[in-house]
Amino acid sequence: PYTGPFASEILRKRKEYLSPSMFMFYKQPLNVVDGRMQYLFDENGRRYLDAFGGIATVCCGHCHPDVIDAIVNQTKRLQHSTILYLNAAIAEFAEALASKLPGELKVVFFTNSGTEANELALMMARLYTRCHDIISLRNSYHGNAAGTMGATAQCNYKFNVIQSGVHHAMNPDPYRGMFGSDGKKYAKDVQDVIDFGTSGHVAGFICEPIQGVGGIIELAPGYLPAVFKTVKKAGGLCIADEVQAGFARMGSHFWGFETHGVVPDIVTLAKGIGNGIPLGAVVTTPEIAEVLTHRTYFNTFGGNPVCTAAGLAVLRVIEKEKLQENAYVVGTYLKERLTTMMDKYEIIGDVRGRGLMLGVELVTDRRQKTPAKAETLHVMDQMKEMGVLVGKGGFYGNVFRITPPLCFTKEDADFLVDVMDYSLSKM
Ligand code: PMP
Repeated sequence: PYTGPFASEILRKRKEYLSPSMFMFYKQPLNVVDGRMQYLFDENGRRYLDAFGGIATVCCGHCHPDVIDAIVNQTKRLQHSTILYLNAAIAEFAEALASKLPGELKVVFFTNSGTEANELALMMARLYTRCHDIISLRNSYHGNAAGTMGATAQCNYKFNVIQSGVHHAMNPDPYRGMFGSDGKKYAKDVQDVIDFGTSGHVAGFICEPIQGVGGIIELAPGYLPAVFKTVKKAGGLCIADEVQAGFARMGSHFWGFETHGVVPDIVTLAKGIGNGIPLGAVVTTPEIAEVLTHRTYFNTFGGNPVCTAAGLAVLRVIEKEKLQENAYVVGTYLKERLTTMMDKYEIIGDVRGRGLMLGVELVTDRRQKTPAKAETLHVMDQMKEMGVLVGKGGFYGNVFRITPPLCFTKEDADFLVDVMDYSLSKM
């Protein structure tokens, strides 16, 4: 049994000693003390089905024994900086990771986070092209350091930083966007941004294959292939931010960009990569990687032996437990059940996503698409009371984000939908 401090005591300390800007979703904040695969346990030993943990890093499930073993064994042996010496764990994971990517994408730079990975990717694009202009999508999230906060395009996450050389193109959002599902029309906006906002040459384009923080927004079909062509024509590099979509979550494919039939010049990774261990990566081609040899570049802890040992274990678990296949089967089933609920509740405006990266958008009026923000928060709270944790996102805070660990089962999917159904019925 848990003998540590309880929620009220932690909350008091948190209010006094921790950043005042932290999230607090639930009326009664949850003190999670244990995790096992798709479950979390609170201070009283109560079990919760974690349908959001996938995005909060856990890809194989909380405390997966193989990942723990890899971390513990490497920690007992050696933990050190990534730089200076050779170490097998780092090289082996880099090789294994590169083998999962197509074509010339085989040079790996490790970081500690998604923000760092995207900062590096943006800088490399700028160095390689000798241009400064970057294009990102409205409603995107790419991180919170100087460059990535510029690329991020939601005021909710932007402080008053200088928006140096970043252009935000129209979001190809099939639900709220003005061109519906016509990817080609949105793609034209990127050409316009280049023609009217730059010299005609750009450093690059960055986007999430499915927007996560932005509310599980799938890009309109045909958008990405058209934009990649446009950007390449303007001399730019295409960066896929796979921080949320990557690592088998899509089900049908291992990477999000593959679902669009494109191959990026640079791919950035984090979150699921280490199953909860701080790790991020940039993968690119040998030619682009060359730009970092012009100066000294290093990252003290990015890809250290312990984190890369975890990363390698994650790749092995995904394969061994057929987690990509599971994401496909369970994700397809879950999306179907969620979609069926639309017949019952007017408040569900949209159900979308792929694999185990799904979104349910609540609106008070289906025609006007008025965000049902308070209702979303209420249902989320009710679901937690019944033992199911889902996430929340979208610019208006009215989208449930369902991104469980990839070991999620059909029975878990049923429980989640039944609990959501019951909460909606009680509104
Ligand atoms: N890219 C995407 C798509 C993300 O969702 C996030 C985090 N939400 C980041 C980058 C930044 O990652 P981190 O918080 O690890 O810096």
